[in-house]
Amino acid sequence: MYPNILRHPGPTPIPKKVQLAMNQDMISHRSEEFVQLYRETTNRVKPIFGTKQEIILIPSGGTAALEAAAVNTVSPGEEVVVITVGAFGNYFVSICEKYGFKVHKLEKPWGEACTEEELSEFLKPLTNVKAVFATYNETSTGILNPVNRLAQVVRTQTDALFIVDGVSCIGGAPAEMDQWGIDILVTGSQKAMMLPPGLALLSVSDRAWKVIEKNQTPSYYLNLLSYREWAEKGMTPNTPAVSLIFGLSAVCDLIEEEGGFSQTVTRHELMKNMVRQAMRALSIGLLTADEYASPTITAIKAPEGLNLGEFLGHLKKKYHLDFAGGLGHLQGKIFRFGHMGYCFPSDILQAVSLLEAGLQDFNYSFEPGAGVLAAQKVFLAAQQK
Ligand code: PLP
Repeated sequence: MYPNILRHPGPTPIPKKVQLAMNQDMISHRSEEFVQLYRETTNRVKPIFGTKQEIILIPSGGTAALEAAAVNTVSPGEEVVVITVGAFGNYFVSICEKYGFKVHKLEKPWGEACTEEELSEFLKPLTNVKAVFATYNETSTGILNPVNRLAQVVRTQTDALFIVDGVSCIGGAPAEMDQWGIDILVTGSQKAMMLPPGLALLSVSDRAWKVIEKNQTPSYYLNLLSYREWAEKGMTPNTPAVSLIFGLSAVCDLIEEEGGFSQTVTRHELMKNMVRQAMRALSIGLLTADEYASPTITAIKAPEGLNLGEFLGHLKKKYHLDFAGGLGHLQGKIFRFGHMGYCFPSDILQAVSLLEAGLQDFNYSFEPGAGVLAAQKVFLAAQQK
């Protein structure tokens, strides 16, 4: 009866308008109607990526698009750098290792970002790197790596491509792919893009297309040249996720209704600040420093003295409030508060209020209302601007 209050880092709630759009009658993916839908929709997505390049749509999860980025640009035995600051950076390492690339791993402790100085030092002795892979938003820790500055380092120190996993933040975080110098930017539908899982989106720079044209590694379903060839005709090489593309068009409407993508980014920034201030007011620790805190997900330490698994289970059972737990060695130590996509300041106030109710049930020592008040203050201050 009660709706599940899904505060996860993906999948995320789907707006009604998007649900209805996806419910349209099916059309042929080789029809004029589809060509128009495809062209209009992919053009409208470009500002979210900050690119003038084509947006490629693959009917898949984000992982397939990460794999496509790797397999189309690098050949087995070639050297790559993978920046890893958590579980999803390690994911990129695994993909690269599976394809037999020689991986130089720039690894940071979970909860920290990779700075431009660290990348610069790391790259100095490496003279033959074909690509540098980075996670923009590390979903396991709530870190937003400074990919704009990392791109600058890659550009000035190497001829390598800079390939970025933006799966858990594109649609909620700023992205200026062309201006920053990102060569491939990848995302998935089910997070800040407000869609169900099943559609991967990526864009490729001119520099990267030149590398892809020469790359000899075989690929079929993930062959980006075939996606580009078909995109020129307003179509895809295989049957696309037509319903999700209907939904994507409605997502673009919603972003326009909000006042354009910069407003969407501002809302995410505001929600991040509301969550962080609320946790501070409750004396609950945050995993990450403010400087690199993600606008789409906040990793929060277990409230002192509480069994986190039991607490999260209780919130879900009694209040229908569904947070994500920690991954890997952070399991039982942190929980992850997703605030991306179809999530608003009112949702943050609701979630913090229910979190406080749960804390009271567990006799956690705090001043009831302090978290809500702190979040509300951030919200009200933003209204006055
Ligand atoms: N990269 C990041 C940063 C993610 O958060 C995820 C999923 O959570 C993935 C990659 C994998 O995406 P998918 O599960 O859609 O294949």
